[in-house]
Amino acid sequence: MCDCAECEQLLQPYLDRVLTEAEVLEAEEHLDHCSYCRRAYRFEEELRMYVRRAASEPMPLELKQKLAQLRISL
Ligand SMILES: [Zn+2]
Repeated sequence: MCDCAECEQLLQPYLDRVLTEAEVLEAEEHLDHCSYCRRAYRFEEELRMYVRRAASEPMPLELKQKLAQLRISL
């Protein structure tokens, strides 16, 4: 089973925890088999952690540029 396009669409709502139980299972089943999507999910999760942490303090320009580069190279 490989349906990366569908899995990618579930990524944001998955991290927002707004998926139905069935959709969560669908996404996780795909993640079990697909290292590409697993990496994408992990990256988005880390990015959100950075953003949350940075919300309380101004993000240094250098970090912003680093994150932008990571996004492009993915
Ligand atoms: Zn995939």
